[in-house]
Amino acid sequence: MGIKIIKEKCTGCGLCVRVCPYSAIELIDRLPVIKENCTYCGECVRACKFGAILLQGPERPKTKVEGYSGVWVFCEQKGGVLQSIAYELLGEGKKLADKLNTGLSGVLLGDNLQDKANELIWRGADKVYLVSSPRLKEYRPDPYTEVLTDLIRKYKPAIMLAGATSIGRSLIPRVAVKLQTGLTADCTGLDVDKEKELLLQTRPAFGGNIMAVIITPHNRPQMATVRHKVMKEAVVNKGLSGEIIEVNPGESFLKSKTELLGQIKEVEKTVNLTEADIIVSGGRGLRGPENFCLLEELALNLGGAVGASRAAVDSGWINYSHQVGQTGKTVCPKIYIACGISGAIQHLIGMQSSDIIIAVNKDPHAPIFKVATYGIVGDLFEVVPLLIKRFKEVFN
Ligand code: FAD
Repeated sequence: MGIKIIKEKCTGCGLCVRVCPYSAIELIDRLPVIKENCTYCGECVRACKFGAILLQGPERPKTKVEGYSGVWVFCEQKGGVLQSIAYELLGEGKKLADKLNTGLSGVLLGDNLQDKANELIWRGADKVYLVSSPRLKEYRPDPYTEVLTDLIRKYKPAIMLAGATSIGRSLIPRVAVKLQTGLTADCTGLDVDKEKELLLQTRPAFGGNIMAVIITPHNRPQMATVRHKVMKEAVVNKGLSGEIIEVNPGESFLKSKTELLGQIKEVEKTVNLTEADIIVSGGRGLRGPENFCLLEELALNLGGAVGASRAAVDSGWINYSHQVGQTGKTVCPKIYIACGISGAIQHLIGMQSSDIIIAVNKDPHAPIFKVATYGIVGDLFEVVPLLIKRFKEVFN
């Protein structure tokens, strides 16, 4: 990559210096001089009214979009159990496929998973690519990458979705690099531009201050990992039928540099927030760690779990495993009760798809009320004890 100044065309107006977001241009003797910190973003090229700046470098590779069609979902399994993220992606994938008037396929890698392939069809997959081998029983990056890359090269899906889980985050970037295509990680929303047949991939950017919509216009497949619990699961319909395509992986694809010696399951000491139906969350409004017992009592009465904002976690009032939001967990309970939480975008990202949101906040203008199904304007230290009292009367 390089940048060239055409001296004959340059008038020394200095516009390029002003528009450069990286302060990487200096005017010396009325001629722009490019500094080392230039990122070749092209802002100066676009701004120059005299065509005096040229970006030089390897040409953009020719677009590779022809011949690709269909929406694929990488259906994650652990220990032979399909993970709920697979159902969430099939639900979302179906919507995208319908909009594009194309098919939805699941990709399942593992060992002896024929019955699971049927489950994917009942959740809306028109086709399931099933790759079975004892060496695919547990996730290992190298054989999974080789097998999935080979499948994509052979069948050419236009869109490939996977969970932003530890497996998805390990596997999908490797596949994207092999295929030389774009990947948007950690999406919280997906849609399509029907006319241009583009996947619109939404994810938080710049510390969650904006939601960026990212596209992959020049390459296929368009690959995205999607956060757990953001999309709704596809419902089971045993009347649905589809095709199971059993793919025999070549020996060379199954090689691995690693050997799995054993697995040690983490003992869950803390609440499993992501699976809870009811979550009572507390923020800075709680004023101190001692007041979380109020929320624990409410959660206990409702059979729920306790969540927290980052402000509460950063203050050391509660453990990080309880944090909800962009840098914490994404949750989607039936009821989310936010107490003393303002509703910053980074918090909302992690809970706004809850079925019912109840907000307790003494500030009537708190942003949390914009997403709340029910809002209680009041002091949580008065409201929460009243709620506990009432629930005790109802449930006991
Ligand atoms: P505040 O914003 O201080 O709000 C406290 C609220 O309590 C106020 O609305 C106030 O009116 C109310 N209140 C006070 N006293 C009472 C009372 N007695 N009764 C009722 N209401 C009362 N935040 C997250 O939560 N999760 C994340 O994952 C996360 N990730 C982040 C990532 C990045 C990169 C950045 C930059 C920020 C992130 N944040 C995250 C922080 C986020 O921006 C907010 O700062 C944070 O969510 C604020 O927490 P809060 O609502 O508890 O506190």
